[in-house]
Amino acid sequence: MADVLKKVPVREQDPKVRATNFEEVCYGYNKEEAMEEASRCINCKNAKCITGCPVSIDIPAFIAQVKEGNFDEAYQIISKSSALPAVCGRVCPQESQCEGKCIRGIKGEPVSIGKLERFVADWARENGVKPQPAAEKNGHKVAVIGSGPAGLTCAGDLAKLGYDVTIFEALHKPGGVLVYGIPEFRLPKDKVVAEEVKNVLSLGVKIETNVIIGKSTTIDELLKEEGFEAVFIGSGAGLPMFMGIPGENANGVFSANEYLTRNNLMKAFRDDYKTPIMRGKKVVVVGGGNVAMDAARTALRLGAEVHIVYRRSEAELPARVEEVHHAKEEGVQFDLLTNPTEILVDENDWVKGIRCIRMELGEPDASGRRRPVEIPGSEFEMDADTVIMSLGTSPNPLISSTTYGLDVNKRKCIIADEEYGKTSKEGVYAGGDAVTGAATVILAMGAGRAGARGIHEYLSSKNK
Ligand SMILES: Cc1cc2nc3c(=O)[nH]c(=O)nc-3n(C[C@H](O)[C@H](O)[C@H](O)COP(=O)(O)OP(=O)(O)OC[C@H]3O[C@@H](n4cnc5c(N)ncnc54)[C@H](O)[C@@H]3O)c2cc1C
Ligand code: SF4
Repeated sequence: MADVLKKVPVREQDPKVRATNFEEVCYGYNKEEAMEEASRCINCKNAKCITGCPVSIDIPAFIAQVKEGNFDEAYQIISKSSALPAVCGRVCPQESQCEGKCIRGIKGEPVSIGKLERFVADWARENGVKPQPAAEKNGHKVAVIGSGPAGLTCAGDLAKLGYDVTIFEALHKPGGVLVYGIPEFRLPKDKVVAEEVKNVLSLGVKIETNVIIGKSTTIDELLKEEGFEAVFIGSGAGLPMFMGIPGENANGVFSANEYLTRNNLMKAFRDDYKTPIMRGKKVVVVGGGNVAMDAARTALRLGAEVHIVYRRSEAELPARVEEVHHAKEEGVQFDLLTNPTEILVDENDWVKGIRCIRMELGEPDASGRRRPVEIPGSEFEMDADTVIMSLGTSPNPLISSTTYGLDVNKRKCIIADEEYGKTSKEGVYAGGDAVTGAATVILAMGAGRAGARGIHEYLSSKNK
């Protein structure tokens, strides 16, 4: 009999094989595995897992349906709270959210809530089950800017309440970071992202791609001239940061955003696309977050020897433990307590190496993490032909600088309240990375839900 203290293991591609392809790493549960894992849930009366979920999925209720093999019912329960369950089941940091609160986790391993959510969403897609649309339209027009998790969630919730919603998206494909940032081997684009976007559209949401708000039109024009009664801004945080060290403008230096966008959105990894990327032989990725892991694992799959250079130690790596584990298994090398000081270039201004300095950990800084301090005289050089900077991102100021009366903080994040996403401008709501700076899919979705609540309340009282 299976050990009830342990999760039913999930099948994955062999690390040696997957390091050479872009197929999905994790295979997920089949029916029998899902039902067995669901039977580990003890259906707590005071289910702490729900409080750990930013979109408040009724987790014990959906798991109880999985246990009985009622996957359709399980999907309808999830889709009341989440527009993107197949995405969240794959990329959410469950270990610090729902699973982090699961009562089963006190003595053994928590219930594998994320993998069960993924199973249900995949089952629904394969069996043509869709979320329920609103019974009637209410005739009120709302604009949503950005089709990432925040925008899609806000649009889906408003459509279910009967609003006439149009999403305006700057890129040619909807999905935000889900389509341009997170790689195919973690989140398949056609099979998963495009299908969940279609589910949102099936609720009656319209989308206009290739429209840059702040250039093609403005928020003030949407409100004053185009008949929209409220606007939700979910434009993300897509502006990359750099270190400001010598050589950073050389050929062969990328931001992680550019590198990943070229691969994910422009399909640079596929031979049948005419938008290739430079395939480095030795790639250095600077940074230690999820984005750095994604860039490193992408470069590895494109055939490079890959080093992650990070200024603190392994314990401080901001990436999910699972991502670090997968990166190591596949052969990414970690140069920890190391910081770049200069990018070395050849006579044609191409990257030929990187100068670094060794670090040690000092006293904790404002973030509570121990501050990395340079060790004098420890500088050394590494060969490299490509350097990928993965140091974080901030919101693009285009929207805030073209919208009259919209307040931002000193990091250019839009100021909005947490409960309803209300901004300083009447009728304008905001949420996701545009408000918090780079965060997570599920927090962006939670903010999208909050924005939908705020807009519904605003328009309901205005139109009384
Ligand atoms: C490489 C990478 C890996 C990540 N991995 C994970 C992970 O494993 N788990 C996790 O939970 N989170 C992860 N994240 C973070 C997560 O993806 C983001 O927090 C989340 O996507 C934010 O959602 P959002 O809707 O606020 O913004 P976004 O997803 O950035 O979407 C914003 C959308 O708005 C559009 N837009 C921007 N400006 C305009 C404009 N002026 N007019 C019209 N449209 C505009 C953009 O084109 C984009 O489509 C990762 C991020 C990256 C970059
Ligand atoms: S806390 Fe864990 S065991 Fe309890 S209902 Fe939630 S998933 Fe089930």
